[in-house]
Amino acid sequence: MRIGIDAMVIHFYLLRRGAGWLGWVSMRNLTAPVALAAALLAAAPVHAKPADTDAAKKILKDSIAIPTVMGRGKVPELAAYYASVLKAAGYADTDIEITPMGETATFAATLQGTTKQKPIVLLGHMDVVEADPKDWTRDPFVPVEENGYIFGRGSEDNKFDVSMMVATMAQLKKDGFKPKRSIILLLSGDEETSMTTTRALAAKYKNAEFALNGDGGGGLIGEDGKPKYYGLQAGEKTYADFTLEVTNPGGHSSRPGAVNAIAELSEALARIGAYRFTPQQNELTKVGMPIVADQVGGDIGAALKAFAADPSDAKAIAAIRADPEYVGQIGTTCVPTLVKGGHAENALPQRATANINCRIFPGVPVEEVRAELVKVIGDPGVTVNPDPDASASDASPLRPDVMAAVAKAVHARAPGLPIIPSMSAGATDSYHFRIQGVPSYGVAGLFSKASDSYAHGLNERVPVDAIAPALAHWDSLLRDLSK
Ligand SMILES: [Zn+2]
Repeated sequence: MRIGIDAMVIHFYLLRRGAGWLGWVSMRNLTAPVALAAALLAAAPVHAKPADTDAAKKILKDSIAIPTVMGRGKVPELAAYYASVLKAAGYADTDIEITPMGETATFAATLQGTTKQKPIVLLGHMDVVEADPKDWTRDPFVPVEENGYIFGRGSEDNKFDVSMMVATMAQLKKDGFKPKRSIILLLSGDEETSMTTTRALAAKYKNAEFALNGDGGGGLIGEDGKPKYYGLQAGEKTYADFTLEVTNPGGHSSRPGAVNAIAELSEALARIGAYRFTPQQNELTKVGMPIVADQVGGDIGAALKAFAADPSDAKAIAAIRADPEYVGQIGTTCVPTLVKGGHAENALPQRATANINCRIFPGVPVEEVRAELVKVIGDPGVTVNPDPDASASDASPLRPDVMAAVAKAVHARAPGLPIIPSMSAGATDSYHFRIQGVPSYGVAGLFSKASDSYAHGLNERVPVDAIAPALAHWDSLLRDLSK
């Protein structure tokens, strides 16, 4: 996830405040085909055991010891290390592809399938956010095992699940497991910064059936040690900035004309500030909101339930819009965030600009939002231009096979645990795979407490006893979904 927009942290934060980003879903709320598929999976024979815990722990520690922060050029070294682990497990040289891109690289390892069906891709990132050793209690790039935790930069984000995926890919090979669909582990090398490796991988593997991302979703454990829910990330809002600009000839401030760039821009900003986009609903919100409503109760619970049943319910919309916790769940939002204008105290402004930051509902094109802003402003003197990098990404459908396999893996360790489809802020590798038309699901194997989540922060750590269940999680998912 990108610096400053750690979806997992946002997710945990929202849960601590009483509700999932987009709601709670348990198996009883899923459609009949899902329940049927779950029953079929539950009846399937037990397979070989998951990867060895000590081997996976070693991979995690070795990964932390390679400081893959931007600017140090260490990602290719980590990629070579993962290649060595997989080759030792029996992968051929031709099954592994490391592609350098500037100082970083992409990594791909394929467990060949027995059919020509489209492959399943696994996603994770090798890079980590910078960490200043001065601020840490322990050296961030020396893995330290202490008090039941492994400390180090990337121990959680994202080297934990990446290591678990590498260990599981190695174990499947050693077991002689032959998937019907090829399983391709794809690791990006600059997910936390510019995501050029992510875009390259998404373009190259756009034929995948679907993607499972180890950098999204995961289980939340309460402070009492009991699992509270499992979040499955299936959608991300589009992050898009628009620049508003007004230019005038300017002149002396003692000689004002009919127009003033700052005044004109101000009127546009006031209109945008007062504007509300038409409420929207998708599969994630429709399924999840009634269950969130049951969790939170009160007036907001009633409003969420009413909106799920009727997305044109004006009273429900007003109540949800008044609550910053939920306003983002019912549609696109756009707000002015930066303003610049003028060049001297005593001069008429020649230029005034503003940034409008939008969080666009999944599936809505960026151009559609731009056109709506132009209409709202209603002044041809104000130009509206989107950041050229902004592109829309659909929410992924809640595929019965994926939902059932995730439910089986999660319920193996926590029977009956609610599984919540969630929508995050638009920051993971999945975002770019969805843009390419590949449904993508954040299904991390890590279960942790909110109080243990230090991703991007100081003294990042992961519980040692999270390793074994995460290995069982990935083993179960990969065996079930590739057959
Ligand atoms: Zn991440």
